Amino acid sequence: MIVVLKSDATEEQIRHITEKTEKLGLKAHVSRGVERTIIGFIGPEDALRMIPLEVFPGVESVIPVLSPFKLVSREFKKQDSIVKIGPHVKVGDKKIVVMAGPCSVESHENLLAVAKKIKKAGATVLRGGAFKPRTSPYDFQGMGEEGLKILSAVGKEVGLATITEIMDPRQVELVAQYADVFQIGARNMQNFSLLREVGQTRKPVFLKRGLSATIKDLLMSAEYILSEGNFDVILCERGIRTFETATRNTLDINAVPVVKKLSHLPMVVDPSHGTGHWGYVASAARAAVAAGCDGLMIEVHDNPEEALSDGAQSLKPENFATLMNELKAIAQAVGREI
Ligand code: PEP
Ligand code: MN
Repeated sequence: MIVVLKSDATEEQIRHITEKTEKLGLKAHVSRGVERTIIGFIGPEDALRMIPLEVFPGVESVIPVLSPFKLVSREFKKQDSIVKIGPHVKVGDKKIVVMAGPCSVESHENLLAVAKKIKKAGATVLRGGAFKPRTSPYDFQGMGEEGLKILSAVGKEVGLATITEIMDPRQVELVAQYADVFQIGARNMQNFSLLREVGQTRKPVFLKRGLSATIKDLLMSAEYILSEGNFDVILCERGIRTFETATRNTLDINAVPVVKKLSHLPMVVDPSHGTGHWGYVASAARAAVAAGCDGLMIEVHDNPEEALSDGAQSLKPENFATLMNELKAIAQAVGREI
């Protein structure tokens, strides 16, 4: 249920509504837009039928939300959400945000070299995993806290915001000390205790679509984070499992317009995991920008042959720079910039 307030509704009227509804066991989320303030209610809908919100002072209309996701939905918020990362980066605005870097943080030296090159090519966020969700327990698992320290130091040195994966609710405090964005990977998209834990912070969350998750599943997972009070969520399409074996995953480009229609949250595409082959990354990235994505996440490695993870899908810095140049015209054609 959403309550749209009159344009001259006062703070006292808003407080009166939220106090009444909270007594019924409902959580009220007040969203102050440029023109209108609206209140979204989460909890047992039956409780709301017990009070005629329509007659409360300041209320213009009461709208039932039919979709299972509420706070995430366009019904709750018409305008696109813009998620700020650090002081300079805005995801969901006209400029398409590019996050790039190696799959894993491997050393200070390697990361610094790559960070300088991706920044020069136009990326604004540095990625690098320190805790890696590997299919095999015998594969490289990431550098842990040491990797986080390197990521943070390089980000500061080069002037890039940072994003890294978190796999466990117990890592929230540690990762929060070092990175600007929590990345929740495909394998943890439905780790509900992790979603709730990051929902209680005020740091942006980058939520990747699960390997076998529908778009609705992705939005329901985002709802967990928003329902805890953290509205700074960025969604990411990174390919799903299908019967196709020519590529590592099947990048679902449809997810971009579908998510943009159903939700106000920004949508980023990861063509690296989406294809699994460096030779296909540029085509997929171009398609994503043409489809209207708000950002890209791309794996870049100075020497993919030696990469400790995902070398096959990593672009060399020179190919990344070429791609960034090509994307300019496509972005412009769809009313964006990069
Ligand atoms: C990654 O970004 O390196 C990663 C592990 O991604 P995903 O969770 O999409 O597989
Ligand atoms: Mn990877």
